[in-house]
Amino acid sequence: MKKTKIDLEDFLKTILPDQKLLKFLSLARDISKKRREFLYFAGGVVRDYLLKRLYKKRIPKPKDLDLVLQGNLKSFLKELLEKVKGQILFESQFLTYKVKINLNGKEFLIDFITARKEIYEDIAKLPKVFASHFEDDILRRDFTINALIIGLSPPYEGVLIDLVEGEEDLKKGLIKPLYLNSFVDDPTRIFRGIRYKIRFGFNFSEDFFLALKKCFEKSALKKLSGTRLANELKLYLTKEPEKNLKNLLMTTYELNLFEEAELKINKKNFNSLISLLKELKGEISEREKEKIFLFGLVDSRFLESLYRLGFPDSEIKELIKYKKLIEENLSNWEKLSLWEKIKIFEKIPSIYLLTLGIYFPKIKKDLIKFFKEYRKVKPELTGEELIKLGVKEGKEIGALLELIRKEKIEGKIKNEEDEKNLVIQFLLNKSKN
Ligand code: ATP
Ligand code: MG
Repeated sequence: MKKTKIDLEDFLKTILPDQKLLKFLSLARDISKKRREFLYFAGGVVRDYLLKRLYKKRIPKPKDLDLVLQGNLKSFLKELLEKVKGQILFESQFLTYKVKINLNGKEFLIDFITARKEIYEDIAKLPKVFASHFEDDILRRDFTINALIIGLSPPYEGVLIDLVEGEEDLKKGLIKPLYLNSFVDDPTRIFRGIRYKIRFGFNFSEDFFLALKKCFEKSALKKLSGTRLANELKLYLTKEPEKNLKNLLMTTYELNLFEEAELKINKKNFNSLISLLKELKGEISEREKEKIFLFGLVDSRFLESLYRLGFPDSEIKELIKYKKLIEENLSNWEKLSLWEKIKIFEKIPSIYLLTLGIYFPKIKKDLIKFFKEYRKVKPELTGEELIKLGVKEGKEIGALLELIRKEKIEGKIKNEEDEKNLVIQFLLNKSKN
């Protein structure tokens, strides 16, 4: 076990998103000291701090602070929350707690974790967990670079503990699992490893490939649940910088993970998927974006493949139905008028529509223009105003509003004045006939 003294004050200053947390941490430390329970930081915060020191790189402040207690966390938190305003928001089956605290009117979310041992009984299934010693808690982790801890309270206050030569691997830039069966136990680690590799520009260690081989031999990726698989892929989109997405997908593809997970993916979709998501910034919600991302990844010839990602039957059938609608018009696409294209697009709910833009590059340009622009074009005049102008109540109003919209989209009319003229012209023509 390698132990190195570090400058705790510098560590805390560097990693804390707000210096108000200093006082909170010192309180937490006092309580753990009194209770003789070891409190420490683990995971991303420690890794990123060391990376910053090593490479003088600007690493963004960590989004989550993982604080681990070797001891009885529930009773520890009870004591802590008697002294600080806050509450437990969520308690998980893995002995972890999400805690919200309020410091001088400002709220913070902190993840508290019980130092634990994990036992994997079935391939690729969630483990049984038991409260345990910090050494077990280190050894349950995914990669050596994520298995470093920094103590906040005695007996290792201000000490960096490295059981697995994680610091060496940080220096060498290596993504190395802690044991060769690691990906059999939990194949999600492979996707995590890819994210760290690309994020930090690291390499996979030899052990990474050996562990991968074992995972393939045991068909562990096939046994990973659809929800967990989908979640890992979504993290490519939500947790990593946008510019890394192509690399993340290519690496996943080249390691043959999609095939091993029994997911039919079309590599040719990657570019149009990425560019479409870029173009839609601000136009769709994060949830919609995630869905389009997963839909867009799969090979459009094998949409049944989406069952593997846990999508419900109804959604997959809808997507297949709308895909057919586009296919029927595809050979004729260039010959359709703008308005005819719009009429097709309007039949399809946005998420499916955007996905089809990924499958069929031929319609993509029109589709994006429709989505960003034409879709939003509405007449200035309302139905009531049309009636005032002399239009009869009933079907005619809808038809006229639609005509105004068409002419606006086609650029034939621009403002409310033009709309009124169009209506008057329409009424005049009618009275003439
Ligand atoms: P990030 O910067 O992406 O948040 P992180 O290392 O903090 O990186 P988290 O997903 O926040 O990653 O997890 C925190 C820590 O928990 C990791 O550093 C790792 O030690 C451990 N961990 C998370 N997921 C796993 C897993 N599937 N198997 C083993 N250990 C894991
Ligand atoms: Mg984290």
